[in-house]
Amino acid sequence: MDMQDLLADIAEEAKSAQPAGRVAHYIPALADVEPSRFGIALAYPDGHVIGAGDWRRRFTIQSISKVFALVLALAHRGDPIWSRVGREPSGNPFNSLVQLEYEHGIPRNPFINAGALVVTDLLLEHTDQPSEMLRDLLRVESGADDIDVDMAVAESEFGHIDRNAALGHLMADYGNLRHPVPQVLHHYVRQCAIAVSCEELARCGSVLTRHGMRADGSRLLSRSEAKRVSAIMLTCGAYDAAGEFAFRVGLPGKSGVSGGVMAVVPGRFTISVWSPGLDRRGNSVAGIDALDRFTTETGCSVF
Ligand code: GLN
Repeated sequence: MDMQDLLADIAEEAKSAQPAGRVAHYIPALADVEPSRFGIALAYPDGHVIGAGDWRRRFTIQSISKVFALVLALAHRGDPIWSRVGREPSGNPFNSLVQLEYEHGIPRNPFINAGALVVTDLLLEHTDQPSEMLRDLLRVESGADDIDVDMAVAESEFGHIDRNAALGHLMADYGNLRHPVPQVLHHYVRQCAIAVSCEELARCGSVLTRHGMRADGSRLLSRSEAKRVSAIMLTCGAYDAAGEFAFRVGLPGKSGVSGGVMAVVPGRFTISVWSPGLDRRGNSVAGIDALDRFTTETGCSVF
């Protein structure tokens, strides 16, 4: 089947089904979205994108931003970051405090919230505006100059920040955050609230598909660093459901609580999906069903 036809078919199937899962509600502004939304897009390394459904409608990037923050941290801080954040699956929910206490404030990986806060702290050593830096990367890689923070979502999350603040303060106590916790939270929340469409997200993820090369042909990450980011997506990208994601989809992927998922077929294409209904671990139900069907029917996985 032609790729465009397959995406259209997947979108049609998702749109005609009853919306599955539950829209995130712990950030109140996220609950405002229609559960029946579904978009899917596929970007080739040369920038050509195809898509179906709501592939041009924006949603907040949420935890998928952690991939791009890690990319920037590796590009600007390099290997020393690994003394402050691990690269093992956590097996715990993305905002869990439990492991952090008995592992002395060193988060298991950069894709759980604690790890992402450390990455933001590391970026603050390089720039005093890390969320703007991330936004600018997304603007340039997608070619969409108007990508920006959705302030309603950011403010809603600031109003419900206690758990992330607790993670930040615990790590600060262990000496693993060097900047004031409110400053780190400010940039972390803003980076999560950047609004992108499936089309734009797929274009941005092509940095990994191209093994570290930017859209303009310049190098952002070494081939080895790009491999490492994708490897951490495979093992940690869906939090405590990373095993299930690898089992069903078989690709490096990263999910977010707005219902977005970005997955990479290294060297071939980036695929992004969005559907707001989540399972109990915070991953998009229809999004993962769609990726499962896509890799099963095309045989395009890393396995
Ligand atoms: N901004 C969200 C939070 O910190 C991101 C979580 C997610 O997408 N899993 O809770």
